[in-house]
Amino acid sequence: MAGKAKKRALLALAALGVGAVASGCAADTGAERDRGAPAAHGQQPRLAPPAQALREYAQRLRASQAARAAAAKRWGLAKPPLTAPAGPAAKPLLTTRKGFEVRGQAELPPVFTTVPTKDKVVFLTVDDGAEKDPAFLRMMSDLKIPYTAFLSDYLVKEDYGYFKRMRDHGVALNNHTLNHRYLPALSYEAQRREICGMQDVIERRYGKRPELFRPPYGNYNRDTLRAARSCGVKAVPLWASEGFADHMEWREWDKDLHPGDIILTHFRGREDWKGTMPDMVRTVLKTVTDRGYAVARLEDYL
Ligand SMILES: [Zn+2]
Repeated sequence: MAGKAKKRALLALAALGVGAVASGCAADTGAERDRGAPAAHGQQPRLAPPAQALREYAQRLRASQAARAAAAKRWGLAKPPLTAPAGPAAKPLLTTRKGFEVRGQAELPPVFTTVPTKDKVVFLTVDDGAEKDPAFLRMMSDLKIPYTAFLSDYLVKEDYGYFKRMRDHGVALNNHTLNHRYLPALSYEAQRREICGMQDVIERRYGKRPELFRPPYGNYNRDTLRAARSCGVKAVPLWASEGFADHMEWREWDKDLHPGDIILTHFRGREDWKGTMPDMVRTVLKTVTDRGYAVARLEDYL
């Protein structure tokens, strides 16, 4: 269901006094809350057709929670991941992280490592495109974990179909340049070819021009942001922490998650890591769930 439609339905549910079910959606288990729900229904023995539709929607929500718990077990997670709340109605105002600005930043796409929000959510972003593990696609759809991909054409072109399947699962495909060069060493024109060329590839192959761009290695200069803006980039998300198959690495001194943090990981496997992409997902989700966070869709907040 689209974010807006879901939000409307949740609001309507709350108005009908079945908010218990809606809030169960944002919790790891709806079991206790669900016991409260029938009483609310009991006071409304005859449901008008819209109420009936909402009741069915609530039942579907419970069913999807049960499916998620089963999927978590199947994929070897200690706990089912928490479900993210519906994204904000008003998008947060994005500003460039202090110390990350270039000259004239106010006119250029913002560069940030955390999205301003009070929601206990984090965002998962997966870069490059080397490893094309079908188990990763299955695991993420099974668990219904949203993520955003930042793709580099020299790796993606080995198998455009893999990322088409990803897009068909609702994953946004974003720009990580054609050849993954160290951009600050290139002229404005060469950077423009790297960034705008990838905009064109993604639009041609996958039907949508990306709005998000991440420079390789997180390195950029003023020309990078000017070039990105010139071919339609709206924002430049970097990252606050990085997930590997067997550990996390942190940008912040407190080595912790914060509301709105962006987590980086990669399409990598045993050649680079001590494990597989599903191992990486287990490591990241354990970190996220144990600390009481849910993974939300980056695009819902931008
Ligand atoms: Zn990269």
